[in-house]
Amino acid sequence: MPWPILNDSETERLTRAEVERQNTALQLIASENFASPAVMAATGSVFTNKYSEGYPGRRYYGGNQIVDQVEDLARQRVCALFGADHANVQPHSGANANMAVYQALLDPGDTVLGLSLDHGGHLTHGSPVNASGMMYNFIGYRVGDSDERLQMDEIADLAAEHRPKLIVAGATAYPRIIEPEPFRKIADEVGALLLFDAAHIAGLIAGGLHPNPVPYSDVVTFTTHKTMRGPRGGCILCTDDLAAAIDKAVFPGQQGGPQEHAIAAKAVAFAEAATDEFRTYAAQVVSNAAALAESLAAEGFRLVSGGTDNHLLLVDLRPFDEDLSGKEAQTVLDEAGITLNRNSIPDDPRSPFVTSGIRIGTPAVTTQGMKEPEMAEIGRLIAATLRNRTDEAAIKGIRNEVRQLCTPLAPYPDLV
Ligand SMILES: *Cc1c(COP(=O)(O)O)cnc(C)c1O
Repeated sequence: MPWPILNDSETERLTRAEVERQNTALQLIASENFASPAVMAATGSVFTNKYSEGYPGRRYYGGNQIVDQVEDLARQRVCALFGADHANVQPHSGANANMAVYQALLDPGDTVLGLSLDHGGHLTHGSPVNASGMMYNFIGYRVGDSDERLQMDEIADLAAEHRPKLIVAGATAYPRIIEPEPFRKIADEVGALLLFDAAHIAGLIAGGLHPNPVPYSDVVTFTTHKTMRGPRGGCILCTDDLAAAIDKAVFPGQQGGPQEHAIAAKAVAFAEAATDEFRTYAAQVVSNAAALAESLAAEGFRLVSGGTDNHLLLVDLRPFDEDLSGKEAQTVLDEAGITLNRNSIPDDPRSPFVTSGIRIGTPAVTTQGMKEPEMAEIGRLIAATLRNRTDEAAIKGIRNEVRQLCTPLAPYPDLV
């Protein structure tokens, strides 16, 4: 076939370099994971070629007989996985999913309660630089001063005061279990709808580790690429009575043609998440986070909220080294092959670009087969890197240790 470029060596070289990076360094970004070869094969499939605006059985284009089946498969699998009435698997991302929910449930200017960004909430929970914050009147709730956990009585007071139309539960940097039931109670008390944004923890819920918000929520959104371990994308679950409004808000409200190759890969990921192997995986993600927390605490770091119940840790660097910012820690750790992100801690005195904290997650390293002994090792390597951060030779040595730790457990040994 006369494809114009037979061998794009530049992109190939970059792809190989990225495989090498993922195979030989520690991926500790809490929102990342390694997708299975089956998920990646579906993502790279011919479904990428198809236009299918609309929904199964109601498309604006011809030729969707097979696409309809793949989208129905994804919808059925995810509804079974979470016990949901209805699913929309078309959102291109978690942010799109949230914006569609707002469009379906709210009018511009309506009041919404969500977790403050500087206390662990997401951009789409009302950041002034995000459309959510520009279009809706978001009121932020915060974690407690002493225990750094959600304060349900304060959230109830805020709800009574502001009478939101919608309450958003869920977080992007919160290391504890979020109980959906008390949120439902508060929403009912003030006549609000409840959106549970499970972007980070969907895989932990599917694996039976965290409470399922579906029975308590009007709408649940999540991303498919974080603990869920699927392709990049979003998903919305809702009750039957909201199904039509949600579907209309996704298409034509927010998006045009769905990415059916991603939807095929979501179908694969939902099947994977229903297996015993995935439950074992999710349990190990949580055990690994606890083990890493213990190791870091022993090295002199402070863990926000004192520890973790999920896949992530929020680390306050100040007790370890008052002068060390999150920004500097992220940069030097990256040089050592330890990739994570800086993150504000509650009431951080430094700006969100600098921060006093880092966020560390175990989903990816757990996928590649690391367990408690490796977590102890990772804790030691993080502390050693930060203690020796001005010593170039020491950082080089640690980069080699990281390579030795990762190589036998490389996620994609066959792709090199
Ligand atoms: C990651 C995340 C999102 C957005 O997901 P994207 O796919 O990056 O758009 C939304 N909400 C929360 C709580 C998240 O952590």
